[in-house]
Amino acid sequence: MMCLFCDTRRSQIPRRQWREMTHYAARALLTPFLGLAVFLTRAASIRLQATPGHSLVARNNTFTIMQITDLHYGESLDARGFAQDAKSTRAMQRLLSLERPDLVVFSGDILHVWRDNATQFWDQAMAPTLERRIRHAVVFGNHDDLHRDPPPQDDLSRRMALLHYDMSLPGSLTGSMFVSRMGGGVTNYMLEVYRSDEDAARGQPAALLWFLDSGGGSIREIIREDQVRWFSAKARQLKERYGVLPAFLYMHIPSHEYLQYNPAVPESRSRCVGWMNDTVHPTKEDTGVFDAAVAAHIQYIFVGHMHGSDFCCPAPTRSSSASDPVMLCFGRRSGYGGYGKVWARGARMQRIDLSADRPTMRTWIRMEDGSIEQAG
Ligand SMILES: [Zn+2]
Repeated sequence: MMCLFCDTRRSQIPRRQWREMTHYAARALLTPFLGLAVFLTRAASIRLQATPGHSLVARNNTFTIMQITDLHYGESLDARGFAQDAKSTRAMQRLLSLERPDLVVFSGDILHVWRDNATQFWDQAMAPTLERRIRHAVVFGNHDDLHRDPPPQDDLSRRMALLHYDMSLPGSLTGSMFVSRMGGGVTNYMLEVYRSDEDAARGQPAALLWFLDSGGGSIREIIREDQVRWFSAKARQLKERYGVLPAFLYMHIPSHEYLQYNPAVPESRSRCVGWMNDTVHPTKEDTGVFDAAVAAHIQYIFVGHMHGSDFCCPAPTRSSSASDPVMLCFGRRSGYGGYGKVWARGARMQRIDLSADRPTMRTWIRMEDGSIEQAG
């Protein structure tokens, strides 16, 4: 158990971080009650929605997203761990000040492992975004509710507790439009982006952001068939209502299509832009999420999980109706926790240009040192 009020520990921690910790400690005291309330609720019976009344509206016909991924807060409960988390916070502060995005998408592994005081670390991870009053959306990774001991099988209680906690934060647009009944994850939802306040009032979006929970931690690393069915059905419904809209998909664990890009096969780099230092570990099974994404007119898929890759590659589609390839992209690992300590930190930026009838996206990597990579 972490010693939050212990003098010897305090002496190892910078004053500012200590003040933050005591603040978070007060909030952490509430965590067991939160967890208990969620535990008593049957996960499968919960139907949450994305936060209503928070339209994502473009400014000057552009909408800018920062993808923060793989922060791994709370990796170790000692001075080294706290220093590491402080560096992750500083990296985010710098990235956010440089880019000033309209939305931050946290694409998983915000935490390193589940702890009783998990929300304390969650608060630290969210603080730079909240302080700047930037809205955020979360899709969970395999570490966010990872148990150190073997958990009961398909135990969603910790994932649900984190979901409820994040949704209670100001500026959270995290949602859960569908909870798998087959043991899949909970952060499955969609957000609409509008060209203008008038379009938002009329309910006519210009682009869609999708989020699918690829599991892991206390559940299997997989997007279950019922999640894919929900995604496909919802996408069809929206197409009937709005016509074809450009759409972008966020997950934590890559789909099997990413396997064709491998640092051991140099030819596979030729059509890609970016860093390819990691082999790809996709979800445990391919349940057809890529084909569903093609049918849903997804233009880009953005994932995290592999800390040593930040590439974007065009995936050949198997659908004859799709004219443009889906871009398979990794985010840039943003945090100091987790494996690959020597790799520099950054964030993948995504800017949707809504000035033309057919919106387009530009994406690049902003590094913590301020440099820009992969601009195009
Ligand atoms: Zn990770």
